[in-house]
Amino acid sequence: MHLSGLQIRHFRNLADQQLDLPAEGVAIIGENAQGKTNFLEAIYYLETFRSFRGSRDDKLVAFGAEFFRVAGALVGESPRDGVEVAAAFQAKGKKKKITVDGDEPERLSDGLGQLAAVVFSPMDVALVSDGPGARRRFLDIVLSLSVPGYLVALQRFRQILSQRNAALRDGRMQSTVESWDEGLIESGAQVMEDRRQWVERWRKEFSVYYRRVSGTLTSRIQYQPGVKLEGAEDRGMIVDAFRAALFESREREARLGNTVVGPQRDDLFLTVEEGDAHRDLREFGSGGQRRTAALALRLVEAATIREARGQEPIILMDDVFAELDPGRSERILSLMEEEETGQVLLTVPKESDIRLRRDSLPRWRINNGVLEW
Ligand code: ATP
Ligand code: MG
Repeated sequence: MHLSGLQIRHFRNLADQQLDLPAEGVAIIGENAQGKTNFLEAIYYLETFRSFRGSRDDKLVAFGAEFFRVAGALVGESPRDGVEVAAAFQAKGKKKKITVDGDEPERLSDGLGQLAAVVFSPMDVALVSDGPGARRRFLDIVLSLSVPGYLVALQRFRQILSQRNAALRDGRMQSTVESWDEGLIESGAQVMEDRRQWVERWRKEFSVYYRRVSGTLTSRIQYQPGVKLEGAEDRGMIVDAFRAALFESREREARLGNTVVGPQRDDLFLTVEEGDAHRDLREFGSGGQRRTAALALRLVEAATIREARGQEPIILMDDVFAELDPGRSERILSLMEEEETGQVLLTVPKESDIRLRRDSLPRWRINNGVLEW
């Protein structure tokens, strides 16, 4: 699948324009603050209807404008597989409207993932360096777009959790708190099981990607659940473990006014090999090692799309070689050329930074939000 056309109106600093995009992709060259990241942000918005930078929708509306709209034409294997996805946001009233081939899906979540893309960005290092919330967000996006039922379970879990926490905070009776337990356990167990399965499925690939980029050492990924799950092999056993953990933490949660066990405490534990040991990348990893692990996570995300959705993801690369040593950059390039055979949209500050696809990508320039070729 690739993006064949894009229409942009009032999105950040981007000029209103209608673009035809080549199937192989394009390299976009532009100086700082010209709109390179904004351009990739606009495209990715069509996948999740959110900014990949974590910006609120009202920040995406061009200064002085009242709304933004982005529309993309997607073409599949055969041109008949095409679909048009559009997203618009009205600042006044904060109204968001999604359409797929002109029709508004019943729920926003039904329109998710029409566009299949993965963003590689220097900001990805936060996936490794930041707190557990960053890794849970990563998991949630990847799983919402690849595992049927995950998003529904997650949303249900979150809703019940916030009601249960409110009851704890207000010092409600134990029976009131417990009335939320079955729903919490059921939805939470599904979330944990899906997360654990995903990590199990991709553990090996993660290590292989890491090693191929680093050239020497390897790294491991482990699921670190917010409920002790040792020995819990299936959903029923996860349910039992979660129930037991809730029971055991009753006093602590009453004291803290908060639910202290569950997938809201999950994390991904990332380590790097050092001698005979494996050390926590977050605590001990160098900048380059963390970047490499973040990159491996993105490569796994791309592989997940390929497997779950049966299509090549569009690769959005935002100035990714900026902070990697030449050896790593070279190895990433050869890996990308092998693995990522779909459309590639990459941004660089200087022409000499384009090395992907042996320079064969068409080159565009971006100046003050205007794309030219
Ligand atoms: P760099 O190479 O430094 O990463 P870039 O080309 O990726 O630069 P962007 O982040 O895409 O730059 O664009 C930054 C520009 O967009 C800034 O000048 C900023 O003021 C402008 N900008 C951000 N949000 C808005 C908005 N809502 N409306 C208008 N302009 C905006
Ligand atoms: Mg940028």
